[in-house]
Amino acid sequence: MRERTEDNSYDLIVIGAGNAGLTAALTALDRGLSVLVLEKNLYPGGCAVSFKRGRFEFEASLHELAFVGTEDNPGPLNELFDRYGIKESFVSLPEAFRAITLDENGYDVVIRSGLQGFYDSILEAVPDAGPSLSKVYDLIRSITDAVAYFSKGKQNKLWTLLRHRDFIKASTYSVLDVLNSFEMPEKARSIFCTYWPYLGSSPDSLDMMIYLAMFEGYMRSAPAIPKRRSYALSCALEDAILKKGGHIRYHTEADRLLFDDGKVSGVGAGDLTFHASAVVSNAFPERIYAGMMPKEQIPLKDLKLSAARRFGPKFYTVYLGLNRSVEDLGIRDYTVFINQSSDPVRQYLDMASFETTPLIINFLSNAVPDASPEGTSLVYITALREAEAEDGLGAENYFNAKSDFAKILIERAERALHIDIRDHIEEIEICTPATFARYLGTPFGTPYGYLMGGWDVSMFRTMHSGEDHQIPGLTFAGAHGNNGDGYSSTYLSGVKQTERIIRDLELGKE
Ligand SMILES: Cc1cc2nc3c(=O)[nH]c(=O)nc-3n(C[C@H](O)[C@H](O)[C@H](O)COP(=O)(O)OP(=O)(O)OC[C@H]3O[C@@H](n4cnc5c(N)ncnc54)[C@H](O)[C@@H]3O)c2cc1C
Repeated sequence: MRERTEDNSYDLIVIGAGNAGLTAALTALDRGLSVLVLEKNLYPGGCAVSFKRGRFEFEASLHELAFVGTEDNPGPLNELFDRYGIKESFVSLPEAFRAITLDENGYDVVIRSGLQGFYDSILEAVPDAGPSLSKVYDLIRSITDAVAYFSKGKQNKLWTLLRHRDFIKASTYSVLDVLNSFEMPEKARSIFCTYWPYLGSSPDSLDMMIYLAMFEGYMRSAPAIPKRRSYALSCALEDAILKKGGHIRYHTEADRLLFDDGKVSGVGAGDLTFHASAVVSNAFPERIYAGMMPKEQIPLKDLKLSAARRFGPKFYTVYLGLNRSVEDLGIRDYTVFINQSSDPVRQYLDMASFETTPLIINFLSNAVPDASPEGTSLVYITALREAEAEDGLGAENYFNAKSDFAKILIERAERALHIDIRDHIEEIEICTPATFARYLGTPFGTPYGYLMGGWDVSMFRTMHSGEDHQIPGLTFAGAHGNNGDGYSSTYLSGVKQTERIIRDLELGKE
């Protein structure tokens, strides 16, 4: 590894130790660069942390991890973890989800994991869905082939157009456009769209390519979760950074970029300055533009892009430690999606109110039986709202409003699942967008980056990724990147963006 040349001088500085920040640091260390990570909190992981209340240890964010794969058929995340000697145990989830919808077309179905399991479960619920489902699965195969072709590096445009037409089409049509053109029956369509909250955009706007890429990532084998919460992964990545000679400074909030002759030359944090040839920001571009650099140095194109984009949804999560086991509650499922409507577009619009917004409920104890002390269970209720939505959680009314929405979400969960939660609450923690904003530093507290859909789909982001964010010496990695939110996207974004800046600046060659 190259030694630091002088105090506080590194080849590369990473702002933020979220998933993308941690893998960015490891990628640069692998190339022999000296690396400093600056993190404003006291811990690594960003969203990927856990916290303790009483005798319970809660997972702060992770419901399901995509792209893990199995030992025989490892996914990109397994490969990434293997490279860094990370040996966490994962639980493979046999059920993808239980989906409950509460309108006149309502249903309550359990959908199994794996490509075949998912297919069979939908057919059991909607026997005439076979032909349209087969078309979706053909499309998944085309997308997988195209992704394999693109991952080989240089692409021939003509070959791409001829051989990967379906991929191109899937990138420009919405999930619902495609399912409708396949004449998928309404109920099957609704079940198939259940995962849309994981990307945060309405299925009539979200492009089919990114939806199927995520779907395949979850279903290639099965979704997974680490036995010891996501924080174990964050600590293992931190450990790998330190073992490779990287430096991490916690409790250090980057508050300005340093420039030399128009190029980023370091980062300031209070009285401290750190110098580097390149900076990877796990913090949002908006954080950097808002006071961390002279406005006149922000390229107009970047400002326009920033103004044109919308942020992904914000989150409201109620974490519950119950003094009843999942068996006593009468619940066998790990992930349950509850929607007031069976219409996927209506579901997105239902985010307008706590009374209707889609709920994702996780019973961690059904996936990891010893996740909490015997006779108890861990339950998380997550609700999404649009980033700009008014939620009544102003400073003057914050605590009351927080309890009010938690009560609504708990009661809705009780009604839909026919269980009693309120009488068994031993510990409760309620996180609002303000909690996430303060902890993560993201706009509106979103953990989801920019809203995907319309003109701002993954394909266009990737095509233009060399053109945006043209501040020399700076790149961005995280949920605000090309592939959006999620653990796998952000881990891989850290790798990809760092490889790119190293290549562009020709670092790591000496
Ligand atoms: C409740 C919830 C449930 C979720 N469920 C899932 C799921 O089931 N599956 C899934 O794949 N994804 C899920 N997600 C989304 C996923 O957690 C996020 O998309 C992902 O973790 C974001 O990672 P990131 O690298 O963008 O960084 P973040 O997690 O946003 O971390 C950024 C880091 O940068 C630091 N930072 C910011 N500004 C500065 C600064 N100026 N100086 C120093 N440090 C700074 C922050 O402190 C933070 O540590 C969930 C998220 C939440 C909140």
